[in-house]
Formats: sequence, structure tokens, C-alpha cells
Amino acid sequence: MSSDKQTGWGLIGASTIARQYMVEAIRAQAGQDVVAVMSSSSERARSFAAELQIRSAYDSLDALLADPAVHAVYISTTNELHAAQAIAAARAGKHVLCEKPLALSLGDALAMARACREAGVVLATNHHLRNAATHRKIRELIAAGAIGRPLFARVFHAVYLPPHLQGWRLDKPQAGGGVILDITVHDVDTLRFLLGAEPVEAVGMSQSAFMAKQGLEDGAMSVLRFDNGVLAQLHDAFTSKYAGHGIEIHGDAGSIVGRNVMSQQPIGEVLLRNESGETAVPVQHEGLYVRGVAAFCAALKGQGEPAATGLDGIRSLAAALAVAEACRLGALVRIPELEL
Ligand code: NDP
Repeated sequence: MSSDKQTGWGLIGASTIARQYMVEAIRAQAGQDVVAVMSSSSERARSFAAELQIRSAYDSLDALLADPAVHAVYISTTNELHAAQAIAAARAGKHVLCEKPLALSLGDALAMARACREAGVVLATNHHLRNAATHRKIRELIAAGAIGRPLFARVFHAVYLPPHLQGWRLDKPQAGGGVILDITVHDVDTLRFLLGAEPVEAVGMSQSAFMAKQGLEDGAMSVLRFDNGVLAQLHDAFTSKYAGHGIEIHGDAGSIVGRNVMSQQPIGEVLLRNESGETAVPVQHEGLYVRGVAAFCAALKGQGEPAATGLDGIRSLAAALAVAEACRLGALVRIPELEL
């Protein structure tokens, strides 16, 4: 690993999320730069590199991984590609920040984590919501006993997939499309983070209303039971323009309401309700992706863990896959306990 001043990142995937958030989040860190991008299309790699002033553009994974200026990779290709790309990056000695869902199967996700461990590189999952000041505050309130014993959670994450993203998520089951692997997986990670508990059982029903094709779902409602007894209700969709988003955690001594908090933006508010009434809890907003990359960079220096580790990504995937199976079967599905 080189000094802070020379830490180079390679982007695996010329994606929307890289363009909209991640290049900026990486460059916001002292001593980090994006030095290479790889796309399956050389033209897309070149135009992405030119637009974002990235010095090297590649159309093959091997070429990007052979670049000695690349020390860490950010993987944001479609979901079926993450596992093989992460394993190749680990074997080339590159640290890996990978998008969610980590993979399409638990076997692949575990193989990614093992490859990173064997190579001695850091693996992190880009679950952004745990970096939100709102969610960190909610977690702190729950841990401090502000609502007593948590009993229920409700996640409102039914949104409208913007036209520029109405592609593979809606018609490519082989790419890991559908709302469950896209949004439910984030809800699971957020609930695990807030509650400090693991989901153990799932039930659910899904909907294919008008956007999704090829047997994919564009809406889902699921219920998870956590190992601390909490029941969580999750409402996720690509099709709801006006639903609004947020989260509620209800305990035996109070409730926390997070409004507008299931967002990529540093926005939203936290309210605490208890016998004293309703109080707005102050939060200091900061960029979610910037904070996530900062934690990853600190982990590269041996300072703490990434905000969401590889194991966090494996566990959120396990629960999302269980929700998908529960929807398919119309039955309760147990979520496996996974360790590395
Ligand atoms: P995009 O559809 O923008 O990009 C995915 C891939 O599609 C790219 O890697 C690219 O392949 C290909 N692609 C991009 N533009 C074109 C085009 N014009 N024509 C043909 N192919 C194209 O996906 P997202 O950025 O929305 O998502 C990428 C990943 O990030 C997914 O895993 C998703 O789940 C995750 N994500 C995570 C978020 C988070 O907050 N953590 C938010 C949004 C997405 P190539 O690289 O070969 O050019």
C-alpha cells in the first residue's frame, strides 16, 4: 500500500452511482483519487474518463487490475458481476468496496469475503444509509434506552424509480433486478444497524404492477422477525411517486420517527415521542457516501472497520434472499445465521 498521498482507486463499472456520488465521495478524502475506470464498452470507458477527468480508461478487468496505480476498487456493475470481479480484484491485491447486493447467492457472497480475507485486503459493502446522521442518531437513541425495549419497526421505502434507472432493474432477472435485491436489502442493513440485532425469519408478498417484467417484482411488503423479538414491516417499491419515505421504531417506552430518511441525500428529521410529548432531535447532516468512503479509507490504514463490512453485506443479502423466497413460496422462511 502506498502513502496516503498516492492511494488510487479503480472504478469497475461506468455506472450512474459512480458518476452521481462515488467519484466525488472518493475525491473528497485527503490523498485519494480515482485514477482508472473500466467498462465493458471501450467507448463508455473513454467518455466516462473524459467527463470525470480520470486518467486511465480500460475495457477489460484484467487491464484495470494490472494497473499499479490502482490500490482499491469500487465495484458498481450490475449485480451478477460483483462476485467474480471482487474475487479477481482481491487476488490482484486490491481492496474492494462493492455495491449491494454483494452477489446473487450466499455462496458467491461468502466466496468474495473469503477471497478478500485470504488476500489480506479489505472488503466493504456500500450500504449508505448507516452513514446518515439521522440513522446514527436513531441507533444512539435506541442504545441509550430512549424508547425502552424496541418492539416494532416500520420501514417506508416505496419510491419511484427515475426514468434514467428504468433498465436492468426491471427486466433482467439474471442481473439481479427487482425491488427486493435493490431496496429491501438496504432496509435490512439499516434495521440491523439500528437495532443491533439479526433478522431470523421472513414472510412476504410481492407485486409486479406495471414497471417490472420477466417475472421480476416492482413492489414488496415483508415482515421480518429479529433475534431480539422485534417485528419489522418493510414496504418497498419502484412504482410509488407520492408515498414519501421514512422509518419508525416503536418501543415499550417511546417511539422514534425518522421522516425522509431513506435517502441518498443528507436530509431528513428525527422525532422522539414518549411520555413527555414529541421532541425534534437535532442531527448534523453530512454526505452519506463521503462518510462511508472515509470509514473505508480509515480501515485501509488499520483504523477501525468499514461502515458496512463484507459480513454486513452477506447478512443483508441472506435476509433479502429469504424475503424473495418467502414471496415465491407464500411461506415463512428462516434466515440462515452466517459467519465467515
Ligand atoms: P447503472 O445502470 O447506471 O450501471 C450499471 C452498469 O450498466 C454499468 O456498470 C454499465 O456497464 C452499464 N451501463 C451504464 N450505462 C449504460 C448505457 N448507456 N448502455 C448500456 N449499459 C450501460 O446502474 P446503477 O448505477 O444504478 O447501479 C449500479 C450498482 O450500484 C448496482 O449494484 C446497484 O444495486 C448499486 N447501487 C447502489 C446504490 C447505493 O446507494 N448503495 C444506489 C444505486 C445503485 P459497464 O460498466 O460495462 O459500462
